Amino acid sequence: MQTESSPFEPLICINRIDETADAATFEFKKIDDSLFEYKAGQFLTFEVDVAGELEYRAYSLSSTPSKPQTAAVTIKRVAGGKVSNYLLDNLQAGFALPAMAPAGEFTLEDNQSTTELLLMSAGSGITPCMSMARWLLDTQQQVNIHFIYSARSEADVIMADTLDALNEQYDNFSLTRILEQTDNPNDIQGMLDAPLFEKLIPDNRGRTIFTCGPAPYMQAVEHLAESMGFDMALFHKESFVPEAADNETSESGVNYQVAAPQYGKNFVVDENQSLLDALEAAGVPIISACRTGFCGACKCKVTGEVQSSSQETLTAEQIEQGYVLSCSAKASSDLVVEI
Ligand SMILES: Cc1cc2nc3c(=O)[nH]c(=O)nc-3n(C[C@H](O)[C@H](O)[C@H](O)COP(=O)(O)OP(=O)(O)OC[C@H]3O[C@@H](n4cnc5c(N)ncnc54)[C@H](O)[C@@H]3O)c2cc1C
Repeated sequence: MQTESSPFEPLICINRIDETADAATFEFKKIDDSLFEYKAGQFLTFEVDVAGELEYRAYSLSSTPSKPQTAAVTIKRVAGGKVSNYLLDNLQAGFALPAMAPAGEFTLEDNQSTTELLLMSAGSGITPCMSMARWLLDTQQQVNIHFIYSARSEADVIMADTLDALNEQYDNFSLTRILEQTDNPNDIQGMLDAPLFEKLIPDNRGRTIFTCGPAPYMQAVEHLAESMGFDMALFHKESFVPEAADNETSESGVNYQVAAPQYGKNFVVDENQSLLDALEAAGVPIISACRTGFCGACKCKVTGEVQSSSQETLTAEQIEQGYVLSCSAKASSDLVVEI
């Protein structure tokens, strides 16, 4: 039940499942018991009050849209991380948490895909892959899924029971767990490398790969897929951490004036700086989450000229009205901004 003025809707946490020592699944329902609508692979952006400061973080849904009465996210602690630690230390059944509508395009529907799927994940990156697997199997789609999950040890396998249950229940689902340390003969010990990948996938380079995990893991998967002749039009990845390069653009010295009259702010922005960075630096209270142009949280309305590298989640009408994603917009004239 989002309103005109707020894109957030309170969700009620109804269940917490501690998956590992540092990860838990939180199941939510809506206050009015209405149904969730999302695509497997999408994420929710939560607004979290940590010691009086509002923070915004995206968490992929790990549940299946085919059971829409509830929706779940699975959160893993990040060392020193503000929100992940706060939620794992505090969020319990009965608590309400504001969330934006599901968003994101790391989905089967939004990407070229075939009936032979490799869902490859590591760490907390399991969440969108789990949602896809659950949805495909629950809706009895004619697909074959090879689910390859990497973790440090058996104790670090997130949603281990669910993976085992899917492996047991469905003939068209097979599970490979690659663990750095393990005594379990059903697991593969080591790290994903070319000989192992070749052994796991000796044939059919026409499989669709969806992968999510830490950046080095995804780089390795992408490199292996490319070097082993996979069709890279069928390779899709999701990153949980903003691209570092986005924050490292150097200033050009060409500046434009920006006014945010709602907040009484006037400041300058370099033509190479993202509008989001400039708004934050000027103290304008703008919401942001993914900072890579796909969650839509940092949307604002501008009068003036900008270069946009992403317009994800914006409707044609909003674009016409001057809305941009401030993380993906750079000024090319003086601007007036409304949040
Ligand atoms: C589309 C999307 C979906 C996501 N889905 C999930 C999910 O399903 N489960 C989940 O646990 N997280 C998920 N995340 C990551 C999540 O949004 C947060 O970034 C994460 O919980 C860390 O937030 P924090 O406040 O604890 O850390 P922060 O205080 O923001 O960061 C602390 C430090 O950790 C680094 N850092 C931030 N995020 C990560 C990360 N993921 N891995 C390693 N280092 C990091 C930062 O660069 C910083 O140095 C997703 C992110 C995106 C963009």
